[in-house]
Amino acid sequence: MDWMTIDACRRSDTLPLAVEIRGWVRTRRDSKGGFSFLEINDGTCLGNLQVVAPGELDNYTTEVQKLTAGCSVVVQGELVESPAKGQSTELHAQSVRVLGWCDGETYPLQKKRHSFEKLREWSHLRARTNTLGAVMRVRNRLSQSIHRFFDDAGFYYLHTPIVTASDCEGAGEMFRVTTLNLEKLAGSSRPFDPSQDFFGKPTHLTVSGQLEGETYASALSKIYTFGPTFRAENSNTSRHLAEFWMVEPEAAFFDLQDNMKLAESFLKRIFADVMEHCAEDMEFFDERIEKGKLAQLKSVVEKPFEHMTYTEAVERLTSCDEKFEYPVKWGIDLQAEHEKYLTQLVDGPLILTDYPSTIKPFYMRVSDDEKTVAAMDVLVPGVGEIIGGSQREERLDVLLRRMNEAGLDEKEYWWYVDLRRYGSVPHAGFGLGLERAVQYATGMTNIRDVIPFPRTPGNAEF
Ligand code: ATP
Ligand code: MG
Ligand code: MG
Ligand code: MG
Repeated sequence: MDWMTIDACRRSDTLPLAVEIRGWVRTRRDSKGGFSFLEINDGTCLGNLQVVAPGELDNYTTEVQKLTAGCSVVVQGELVESPAKGQSTELHAQSVRVLGWCDGETYPLQKKRHSFEKLREWSHLRARTNTLGAVMRVRNRLSQSIHRFFDDAGFYYLHTPIVTASDCEGAGEMFRVTTLNLEKLAGSSRPFDPSQDFFGKPTHLTVSGQLEGETYASALSKIYTFGPTFRAENSNTSRHLAEFWMVEPEAAFFDLQDNMKLAESFLKRIFADVMEHCAEDMEFFDERIEKGKLAQLKSVVEKPFEHMTYTEAVERLTSCDEKFEYPVKWGIDLQAEHEKYLTQLVDGPLILTDYPSTIKPFYMRVSDDEKTVAAMDVLVPGVGEIIGGSQREERLDVLLRRMNEAGLDEKEYWWYVDLRRYGSVPHAGFGLGLERAVQYATGMTNIRDVIPFPRTPGNAEF
């Protein structure tokens, strides 16, 4: 008898079929007719499979009738067309084997609905709920689609280091890397100065793989990195994590226009993909989490994105009636409330370009008057910024001056500067926060609920 996933069972059109399923009980209902209904879920789809367990089973009274939510079981039987409304198949059990009992007194996921905030206390169990299960399948699909998109577009998947000595963003949001056994290392045969860092210089967890990515784009032409990224930002917002996943393409011979086109076709592809491959989950989000989500995503896929320069955006923000908490004037870094207003204005994604050079990092290419940089942010309704990118400064003299102004020691970045010495080319790239893309796709309001184990200030329980 073949082990089948519940997703495959629910899709099967060859019926009847002898199958084995393995999963966790969601509910049990005993019928007056001397049999029981079990709703089983194995995480492969949103829906459960209904199992009809007849009273004739050997362990019917000793075990089946004692099953509670959370118990794990293996069921063998015949998959048949279901007479019940709203479900295609059901399983008539010939055997129900209990793998693991579940203490109903302490199991937190009883029938009662919990808030997402409450569920965060049980990061190890919350994936068994409908919403978190659906989020993780969507997250998986988006991740796979990201790889497919870049592979199809001729980008090489590059692994940039997690431990790094460079501060890409210059925002001081880095976690320091230390070692606990410096003393022991000092006593080993190799000379080691315990007052020194392990690597001989201070190192940090990466805040972005961009600088390293640029070096490889200067050789392989088109690369992308996709990995964990760390930022020690002491902000308790619904869109910031201390550990998140970022995908960062970098392409040689690309300018800002190419970069914007890439970002737009990239977002269109991953959202189209997730609607196609996670149809049931996406309908769930559309109904339960954010009404109208699917229609919104369809229009993202179909309609060209709106564009605006930072200067135009500031004009719009200063001439509207909205009262902002953070006052707007040319030169400020736009805040979430401003981004929200702008995306509402255009009712969809918006690509903002040409930000003031004073608020952006040293590596962005400056305009002739040096007032602005060739930066682009992609903003989406509800979330705000999901992509930040730019054309990079490829001119040696300008880069050195900008580094100097930013207080960076060019000797520390000699390797980065070298790229401008030896066959420099125009190039561009961007970073997308995976969690923000998941938030946007699902309508989930808090970023803590779209990553398996959220890391935020004061919170790294497990
Ligand atoms: P924000 O303005 O929201 O703080 P940022 O401008 O600092 O973002 P970038 O340095 O441009 O972020 O990083 C590129 C992308 O990485 C962002 O557009 C966003 O999608 C994502 N991102 C940045 N910081 C975080 C974070 N702390 N948690 C989750 N995603 C993040
Ligand atoms: Mg930030
Ligand atoms: Mg920003
Ligand atoms: Mg940004």
